[in-house]
Amino acid sequence: MPEAPKNTHKPTTDYNLELKNKKILQFIEDVTSNADEVQKKVLEEILSRNAHVEYLQTHGLNGHTDRETFKTIMPVITYEDIQPYVDRIANGDTSPILSSHPISEFLTSSGTSGGERKLMPTIEEELGRRSLLYSLLMPVMSQFVPGLDKGKGMYFLFIKSEAKTPGGLVARPVLTSYYKSTHFKDRPYDPYTNYTSPNETILCPDSYQSMYSQMLCGLCQHKEVLRVGAVFASGFIRAIKFLEKHWRFLCNDIRTGTIDSQITDQSVREAVMKILKPDPQLADFIEAECSKDSWQGIITRLWPNTKYVDVIVTGTMSQYIPTLDYYTNGLPLVCTMYASSECYFGVNLNPLCKPSEVSYTLIPTMAYFEFLPVQRNNGVNSSISVPKTLNEKEQQELVDLVDVKLGQEYELVVTTYSGLYRYRVGDVLRVAGFKNNAPQFNFICRKNVVLCIDSDKTDEVELQNAVKNAVNHFLPFDATLAEYTSYADTTTIPGHYVLYWELSLNGTTPIPPSVFEDCCLTIEESLNSVYRQGRVCDKSIGPLEIKIVEPGTFDKLMDYAISLGASINQYKTPRCVKFAPIVELLNSRAVSSFFSPKCPKWFPGHKQWINMN
Ligand code: AMP
Repeated sequence: MPEAPKNTHKPTTDYNLELKNKKILQFIEDVTSNADEVQKKVLEEILSRNAHVEYLQTHGLNGHTDRETFKTIMPVITYEDIQPYVDRIANGDTSPILSSHPISEFLTSSGTSGGERKLMPTIEEELGRRSLLYSLLMPVMSQFVPGLDKGKGMYFLFIKSEAKTPGGLVARPVLTSYYKSTHFKDRPYDPYTNYTSPNETILCPDSYQSMYSQMLCGLCQHKEVLRVGAVFASGFIRAIKFLEKHWRFLCNDIRTGTIDSQITDQSVREAVMKILKPDPQLADFIEAECSKDSWQGIITRLWPNTKYVDVIVTGTMSQYIPTLDYYTNGLPLVCTMYASSECYFGVNLNPLCKPSEVSYTLIPTMAYFEFLPVQRNNGVNSSISVPKTLNEKEQQELVDLVDVKLGQEYELVVTTYSGLYRYRVGDVLRVAGFKNNAPQFNFICRKNVVLCIDSDKTDEVELQNAVKNAVNHFLPFDATLAEYTSYADTTTIPGHYVLYWELSLNGTTPIPPSVFEDCCLTIEESLNSVYRQGRVCDKSIGPLEIKIVEPGTFDKLMDYAISLGASINQYKTPRCVKFAPIVELLNSRAVSSFFSPKCPKWFPGHKQWINMN
């Protein structure tokens, strides 16, 4: 199997960037040309090293490593199927349950199960695979934008809190794990990983201090910045909002060459002081730009050499494209990669394409990939139907990486080096083309997710349960909830969930505003831990809002859907709306609006671990 080129440790002038880029591009050529062969070897490698793990033995794979036997014997699964195994590992069972390699930590996915983050077991060597995927990005990019080695990237990167499982393993998000690893912290010199943010500012656990210091360093080095970004679009917009709120303090620091006293983390202060020098001229310039009435194009104004914005705007993040365009004066929005806690999947080989045309080429060495064909229901919602558990016939419908068909939609299924076997990731992808023999996929959606602002993913069932809990507050008022729907409102920064409620009022006692506010809070308390973390800790989600709409509004909504072609017999109130005219219709009939008065409760780790640690 083609080996990815190794990094050199030489931070000297003989660092041969061109040669390194060439080798990496050749690696992509090789693995995409030999995609099927590489996939076969990946599966053999995973199955032979794990031949004796409990999970494969229980299913009777018996040491087989070939695709046919694997596909006949091993079931296609979801998280719930492996949860008992995961729980045992979390509770301290170190026997080879899923992987022959020791589980080094858990990666806490933004997907949830029972309201808690899913726990993805991982092994040490996966960090190398993740680094490999990262190492492909800039050589690809440099084919389209030359000279990126001559300056810096201003990326707003953050770590999140971590917890310990009862068995003592660390549980944290994949990016936190990566930034804290030596692969990131001690990365060898590379002009492509030359960031304006010192490691200390990224690794600062206090999100305010981390953001402040990263922004300060970015401003100080504003002329050197050639690209800007964050992981998701929502994170980058949050950084702009932060600047809007704090630029006076930042300017003061730049003017005087001192750091605001709110930055108390000593390692952050020391790292920033290596960059910060008194620069009244720069402070005047930033002040002049930030005090203008309009913030349109603020990114290009403050960082004039920026060539593109590196953020994910595919999937639900596409809702942020207009805001990004406004602040960046239409700079190219570049989506470079597609990854998850389970596995890093692939890269965008045509990074300057339009966001709506982004496709990701899955890198065949990352894992063994299979694809479950997805049917689309016609109709207004054009909803995607994917069965929860698969019968035998459906299990046989899965196809290999090189066998997917152009234009067809599939759910992604992975078998990883860390011990997931035929695991349904939950993403729906559409084949957009091929790079040699490897398919390229548009990201279509995450199955079942109805609401998303940042990394939260709320499904219909969770929303339904949360609403059910909230309406208990109406009991004393003889009122019931006749209909509801929801909307992820990203016109506010941060965005927030809006619920549209139509009530049937039978009683005569009016419902006081505090009851609706209690309803907002109850819904937030009932939502999953990723949502609550976004509200409490990252402040990436604003307070939930309930808008009460006039009686008859949902009938109007149905009339509208039918006028667009929905079948009257099959019409069901959508539990989430996105289509602008429908949102307008709902807003035009809103009679009152209430917000959650405070943050819901949240703590790191799973509820059930609290008394066990
Ligand atoms: P997590 O496991 O919490 O890191 O979340 C991974 C999920 O984020 C993926 O399964 C996708 O649903 C979503 N995601 C990751 N990368 C992209 C991307 N480039 N475009 C759209 N969605 C993405």
